Amino acid sequence: MKKNFDVIITGAGIIGLSIALQLARRSTLRILVLEKGAAVGEGSTGASSAVCRFRYTLNDMVALARDGIHAYRHWNEFTGLKQPAAQFQNDGVLWIPGDDRNWADAEHARMAELNVATEVLDAAEQKERFPALSTCTVAPDLVTGEPHDCVSASRSLLELDGGHIDPAAAAQDLVDACRARGVEVRFRARVSEIETSDSGIRAVLLEDGSRIPAQLLINAAGPWCNDLYRAAGLDSGWDLVPTRIQVLYLDCPESVPGNIPVSVDFQGGIYFRTQNRGRQLVVGSVLEDDEKEAVADPDHFNRLHDDDFMYTKLHALSHRIPRLPNRGQVRGYCGLYTVNRDDIHPIVGKTAVDGFWVANGFSGHGFKLAPAIGSMMARAITGASSEFDTDVPIDFFAVDRRPIDIAMKSVLA
Ligand SMILES: Cc1cc2nc3c(=O)[nH]c(=O)nc-3n(C[C@H](O)[C@H](O)[C@H](O)COP(=O)(O)OP(=O)(O)OC[C@H]3O[C@@H](n4cnc5c(N)ncnc54)[C@H](O)[C@@H]3O)c2cc1C
Repeated sequence: MKKNFDVIITGAGIIGLSIALQLARRSTLRILVLEKGAAVGEGSTGASSAVCRFRYTLNDMVALARDGIHAYRHWNEFTGLKQPAAQFQNDGVLWIPGDDRNWADAEHARMAELNVATEVLDAAEQKERFPALSTCTVAPDLVTGEPHDCVSASRSLLELDGGHIDPAAAAQDLVDACRARGVEVRFRARVSEIETSDSGIRAVLLEDGSRIPAQLLINAAGPWCNDLYRAAGLDSGWDLVPTRIQVLYLDCPESVPGNIPVSVDFQGGIYFRTQNRGRQLVVGSVLEDDEKEAVADPDHFNRLHDDDFMYTKLHALSHRIPRLPNRGQVRGYCGLYTVNRDDIHPIVGKTAVDGFWVANGFSGHGFKLAPAIGSMMARAITGASSEFDTDVPIDFFAVDRRPIDIAMKSVLA
């Protein structure tokens, strides 16, 4: 086991591991990743729906999503692994915006300028391509559950290159790819203290009492990130809140016809995608109201879903997939977003403490962005470029930036 490292990264989630790999791709730095869990997937990454969609309000976010998803789409090449465990599922991402007749066309034009391939589908085209999905533009009544006469008039946007990938398998691939390039990844290694001096970071102390000297420490601790700010004696200046997020799983029987893309249903306030070769649905919320439950201790929170959440989302889902039988087992679980309540975007880069870098506050965006965030950080640290780099400047997420002015503060920001 090596004793000296140039860079220590705290957290083997998708962000920490992407930074480690992106550093190793372009440098000979001695890199150590410390993870308190026994395996990958301890934090947000393990619970992630890992939807890889492109559309965001800000063009820089679209570019970052595009560059991150490019890595997932070329996973063997990106990781350098011959047989990675994860494989990108290119199901497409369908945005169903409700009764706004202009939204899809305007977004189609914007995406084209950002090199994102999309198509606009009218109701007939959507029905032909995805027969399971209703083309209704009337919002379901999620309060009373009263049915309505559906109006088939949707004009939807299909992101052709979108999809999803197994998040835990992708994280394990990154561990393997990092180790193959000489990065040391240690599990059951919780950073409990950080030693600093006037000149910045000096060392990290682990829970087992060991001390590892460090001049460059990266906080990629996901929902636990505030503990590391405190340990470094720093106030991040941002309201980074571990937030309980619910997701449901249910069977999708063969009687539901055709392929189901990753779908974002504005009227129902839900997103969904399939897994297990289309035989299971994963359903989550896109509503800001479902992203408000702060968790005091990320090690202890309610991991079971709420009945209210389940009934409302199932009602929205059955409106969008009318052939879905009203029976079968529904399971739910909860994971944690780290919501940046100031502007819903992450903070990435240097801090006021020399040698203390951060990549935190990814809300529901971090999975798809991770390879591009890794590129931003690695380029800023080493000054060197590599394949799979993004052109979006790291200053976009600077810790000392002003909050971004954005109307929608949910996962759909
Ligand atoms: C339910 C859910 C659905 C989501 N869906 C999507 C989606 O569809 N698309 C998308 O792009 N994003 C999605 N996200 C968001 C995305 O998953 C996260 O933004 C991303 O996983 C954050 O990764 P991370 O590496 O920052 O954090 P984490 O995965 O939480 O990793 C941090 C790691 O640091 C470790 N750690 C913490 N403190 C210490 C310490 N002191 N010492 C050592 N190790 C430590 C933790 O154990 C953890 O493993 C979703 C998230 C959730 C919860």
